Amino acid sequence: MRIAIYGNDRKTSSEVATKLSQLIQSSDELVLDELNPEVVISVGGDGTLLSAFHHYNDLTEKVRFVGIHTGHLGFYTDWRDNEVEQLVSSLEHDNGQSVSYPLLDIEVSYSDRGSNDYMVALNESTVKKLFGTMVAKVYIKDQLFENFRGDGLCISTPTGSTAYNKSVGGAIISPNFNAVQVAEMASINNRVFRTIGSPIIVPPTESVTIVPMVSLHNVLTCDQLLIVDRPIKAITYRISQRRIYFAKYRHTHFWERVGNSFIGDDLDD
Ligand code: NAP
Repeated sequence: MRIAIYGNDRKTSSEVATKLSQLIQSSDELVLDELNPEVVISVGGDGTLLSAFHHYNDLTEKVRFVGIHTGHLGFYTDWRDNEVEQLVSSLEHDNGQSVSYPLLDIEVSYSDRGSNDYMVALNESTVKKLFGTMVAKVYIKDQLFENFRGDGLCISTPTGSTAYNKSVGGAIISPNFNAVQVAEMASINNRVFRTIGSPIIVPPTESVTIVPMVSLHNVLTCDQLLIVDRPIKAITYRISQRRIYFAKYRHTHFWERVGNSFIGDDLDD
């Protein structure tokens, strides 16, 4: 099986990546292949897995990911840095098992008449203004839903719901739901301006389009990536037909991850 290792540049991650690489090279069943892997092993945290996902974006349908965490249990990382031998053994006995999660399709059109951009997010996309209030029309399924005023909007996947979305008051959604969540960032609500004021969850049959009233000075993010340099006309979001696949040698239940990350394990005290 062809394996790629994708790590961050922290010392612990480099050490784990080196050990992993040596074990793979001494295996009869495994071979290192950075260009055309079947399995991508990310070594670091959830942020590293996000980078690995974007690095291998063109191969998303063909590869399965495995996350080794060198810090704390993450949302995309199941293996600890001291379990590298066990992981290599699981790879050697692989029978193709996987678990998949929804992704977010993003289509951006620009008022400079240049061609549209198409991106895919694993966590979320946000639209904000560089300075001042963002004013935008929000359409759901091509129907005007609201006139938004505030800092911005965060559109997330279920697995991204525990990231930026949670920080801005969005709900945590199990990745068994195929859905997009729209959460507000500091909306202005008074007698003049009105937004829905709560997160909304949209099914895969519906799209969400955001049309900024001023196309200049908007900031668009796609996970850790940033787009600032073109005048945005409209952004359309929908659940992608594509999904991300993880090799399922072991699988931590989603709500166990949520509890572990945000509540802790001293519940009986
Ligand atoms: P970063 O600012 O270095 O790290 C952001 C933090 O978010 C890290 O602790 C990361 O975990 C964690 N994280 C990433 N994906 C997660 C998920 N699905 N569920 C729960 N936590 C998650 O940025 P980065 O490492 O390049 O990651 C980009 C992500 O940062 C964005 O996709 C966005 O979700 C998040 N972000 C959050 C805020 C906020 O909450 N106010 C603001 C900007 C960006 P690890 O430590 O395991 O890497």
